[in-house]
This record gives sequence, C-alpha cells and structure tokens, in this order.
Amino acid sequence: MRAAFLGLGIMGSRMSRRLLDAGFGLTVWNRTPGRAKDLVQSGAREARAPSEAARDADVVLTMLGDPASVREVILGPNGVLEGLPSGSILIDLTTVDPETPRELEKAAAEKGAFFLEAPVTGSRPAASSGELVLMVGGEAEVLSRAEPVLKPLSRRIVHMGPVGAGARMKLLNNLIIAVSMQALYEGMTLGRQGGLRDEAMLEVLLSSASASPLLKMKGTAVQNRNFETNFSVKHMAKDLFLAVEEAHRRNVPLPLLMTVHALYESALARGLGEEDIAALVKITEQMSGLNPSV
Ligand code: NAP
Repeated sequence: MRAAFLGLGIMGSRMSRRLLDAGFGLTVWNRTPGRAKDLVQSGAREARAPSEAARDADVVLTMLGDPASVREVILGPNGVLEGLPSGSILIDLTTVDPETPRELEKAAAEKGAFFLEAPVTGSRPAASSGELVLMVGGEAEVLSRAEPVLKPLSRRIVHMGPVGAGARMKLLNNLIIAVSMQALYEGMTLGRQGGLRDEAMLEVLLSSASASPLLKMKGTAVQNRNFETNFSVKHMAKDLFLAVEEAHRRNVPLPLLMTVHALYESALARGLGEEDIAALVKITEQMSGLNPSV
C-alpha cells in the first residue's frame, strides 16, 4: 500500500516517520521546503505539489493547520484533489470545523475516491511513539480499509459516526483541555502568590484525584518555565474559535469556553502564538501582578 503525507509540521513530521518506519512506500509534501529532508534521506519521495503527491497513492493523509489551509491544499490549484486516484482514500487529520470535512467527502466522491476525517489527540510525544487517539468520522467500511495506515499512528481508533462527528468530538475535547489547564494555571498562580512552592503544589496535585497526564506535562512545564512548543497557542486559539462557532450554531451557552477563548485571544495579541499552551500561565500571572513584562 502506497501512502502520501502532506504537512510536515510538529505532528505531521513525526506521523509520517511512523509510516516510513512501518514499511509504507511514502511520498511527502510540505509547503515550506526543507522539512522533508530527513524523511527523504530515509527513503521517502518528495513531491513538488499536493496533486503530484496524491497521484500514485492508495491513501493520502493531510495534517495541516486550519480549515483554510486544508481547503487550499486539497481543493486549491495543484491541490490533492487534482491528483487523487479513483478508489483511493483521503484522510484529513487536521483539527477543523465539522463542515469542512463534509465538503471534502463530497469532493473526494466526485473523483471516485473515499474520505475519512481523523482528528487526533495526543501531542508531540504521542505522535513520535504512535500513541495518538484518533476520532474518526466516515463509513465503517472505509475505516476498516484504512486501518493498516492508521494503526502505526495510534493506540486507539474510535469511530465517532458520519463525517463531521470526528471534528465535533475533537473540538469538545480541546475545550475541556483548555478550560482544565486554565484552572491549573490559576491554581498555581494563587499558590505562588501565597508563597507555595511549585514542586510541593505539583506533588499534591499529581497525587490527588485531579491528576492527569496532561496536568503532569503542563504543570511541570510551568514549574521549569519550559515553553518549548508541543501544542501551540495559535492552534488552541483556532480550536476554541471553532468551538465558539459550533456553540453559536447550536445555541449552547458555554461561559467557560467564552472566557478561555478570550484569554487565548489575549495571548495571540501579545505575540505568544508560536509558544506552547503552557504559556497561558504568563497571562494569568500578569493579571495577578506577577510577571508584568508579558
Ligand atoms: P504546525 O507545526 O503548525 O504544522 C502545520 C503544518 O501545516 C505545517 O506543515 C505547515 O506548513 C502546514 N500549513 C499551514 N498552513 C498551510 C497552508 N496554507 N498551505 C500549506 N500548508 C500549510 O502544527 P501541528 O502542531 O503539527 O498541528 C497540526 C494540526 O494538528 C493542527 O490543526 C493542530 O490544531 C492539530 N493538533 C496538534 C496537536 C499538537 O499537540 N501539536 C495535537 C493534536 C492536534 P509550513 O511548514 O509551510 O508552515
């Protein structure tokens, strides 16, 4: 089975490496040149355009930034669709709104191809080790055909329902992550202002019922002031914006989502977009009089 992978950012570069290591013949493409170098040295072929990457693939995977970039790379000039072979499967892994994947499913069907959405949860480490969780929307039969390509990327594949259901699940998952991480930053800021040590606070939090792998990862990042990007502020801000749109469409009042979205907008305005979501602690500290320089 030949695969093509488009979008070699933090997640895509690691996921495509997993496919190469699993023995797939792999063609890769990235907008900014140079990012495919290591993969090409390990045997991948680099295409000059998305249409060329798709041309001889049985399965085409995309891991891009946002809905606009997905539309551009798949539906735009020299896009994936122009080269997508009849009978192949297109899988978009990007976090987008529920409407975009439905458009892609229709466009793929017009080429005689199949479509799945498979947004992921798990960050840089899970992408490297193939331990992502995939939230798949699409036909069960297409999913079972695509499983050989999805398994090397994931520890769990959950079929959510028709196309659109995966995006909906992904947005609510990130709403919960953003709100709960903001609670962590606020708690740690309150503790610091009261003279508590980060180390002692984390020891208690990680032994308590609130403990989670994410709390450990982000709490430790805050303690070490390590804002190296696993998951960028700009992508979480995009996800929260998409969740706000979904909430508006369905008349669902979500006050915590609105508040956390505003904090992410503030982080973007302060130039923190490329930093990890742990950098939201800086905004919280500044509001409390700590860290006035942010
Ligand atoms: P990233 O490092 O910013 O990579 C984004 C990729 O998309 C890059 O390859 C970038 O190409 C490409 N891209 C962006 N806009 C484009 C455009 N207009 N045309 C062509 N290519 C474009 O992001 P990431 O962290 O890997 O995340 C990718 C997606 O997964 C996002 O939707 C994110 O929300 C989601 N996600 C991320 C994580 C995480 O922990 N990082 C976890 C789960 C889900 P260039 O190299 O040319 O910029």
